[in-house]
Amino acid sequence: MSITPLMPVYPRCGVRPVRGEHCHLISEDGTRYLDFASGIAVNLLGHSNEHLIGAIQKQAATLMHVSNLYGSPQGEHLAQRLVDLTFADTVFFTNSGAEAVECAIKTARAYHQHAGNDEKYELITFKNAFHGRTMATISASNQEKMHKGFLPLLQGFKYVDFDDLEGAKAAIGPNTAGFLVEPIQGEGGIRDASDEFLKGLRALCDEHDLMLIFDEVQCGVARTGTLYAYEQYGVEPDIMATAKGIGGGFPMGACLATEKAARGMVIGTHGSTYGGNPLAMAAGEAVLDVVANEEFLGTVKATGERLRGRLEQFIGNYPDLFELVRGRGLMLGVKMKVEPRGFVAHMRDNHQLLAVAAGDMTFRVLPPLVIGDAEIDEFMEKLSAASESYNPEAPAT
Ligand SMILES: *Cc1c(COP(=O)(O)O)cnc(C)c1O
Repeated sequence: MSITPLMPVYPRCGVRPVRGEHCHLISEDGTRYLDFASGIAVNLLGHSNEHLIGAIQKQAATLMHVSNLYGSPQGEHLAQRLVDLTFADTVFFTNSGAEAVECAIKTARAYHQHAGNDEKYELITFKNAFHGRTMATISASNQEKMHKGFLPLLQGFKYVDFDDLEGAKAAIGPNTAGFLVEPIQGEGGIRDASDEFLKGLRALCDEHDLMLIFDEVQCGVARTGTLYAYEQYGVEPDIMATAKGIGGGFPMGACLATEKAARGMVIGTHGSTYGGNPLAMAAGEAVLDVVANEEFLGTVKATGERLRGRLEQFIGNYPDLFELVRGRGLMLGVKMKVEPRGFVAHMRDNHQLLAVAAGDMTFRVLPPLVIGDAEIDEFMEKLSAASESYNPEAPAT
């Protein structure tokens, strides 16, 4: 047998973390890495956060899991908190981002079909989006590399250019159910939508009775300096998917919706065995305890500005390597003039710095939200050393 016990779908690198300490990961061989990837925007409290650990330990010892057939004081409490903090009136808890997007897609379709408008099933989505790896969520993305080998796709998605309001408007037809968009594309290269674009989509939805779905799986949960990125645009969605950071490392997600948008999600229409179980709720509560306040969000914003300022100043030293810095808060991207994957591997293997490659020639800087000046200094030192020693013609493997 030559297949590995772990299904070989990931190009795993040589870093093999076995322990986490605040903003660092320690590998099996003892090597210490500065973690500015955060499990891809997940570990927003860093590793080994005592409040999160304590909450999970306490809940694990009290009640880990019960079925959604029973009443859920834990779920009701966290859902109410999210309702109070956002545009939403109701919440469905999931175990991942893709499941949260799935629920959002179903909610948008059900909104129309519940009213007898069965022809309105199509969502307009945007090129280079990433919404997850289930059949519906790969179908929602135009990226062919995710489709290959898995055809046929699910019907009912139409792709238009990101941030192109006229294109989005022109794509509306008799089958349109709504728009599904990341306010800030993550995998696509930290590309943030313009205010006019999201405001324009909102206006089109209001005009044509369409659902506006935001996928905030990556940009949500304090990452950009507000609890959700949409707050900065002054535009509210009808439905929103959130995950990644929401459990601080505990697998969980949620689909949030207004009462109107959720009109089709009645008894028996959707479900999840694990979704919203008491253990996940304890993790979600612990994360909100820390991040959902003006002081923490203000710190993320200020830290993000300091990091961005340092990065912008720095990249001018290497005009052959770097083009620009973009993003918001602590969701930053550095657009390169060379393939970023080789550089990310070089930073990792030769300078013990973890970042994440993305589309559009960009690498992502997604540190835990609890970094301070010590971590920013360490990051800049490592980035500087890595840039000095990098030879794009002979990239590290
Ligand atoms: C990561 C991500 C997803 C998928 O989340 P999973 O937890 O991997 O299923 C969906 N949308 C966006 C924007 C993401 O970044």
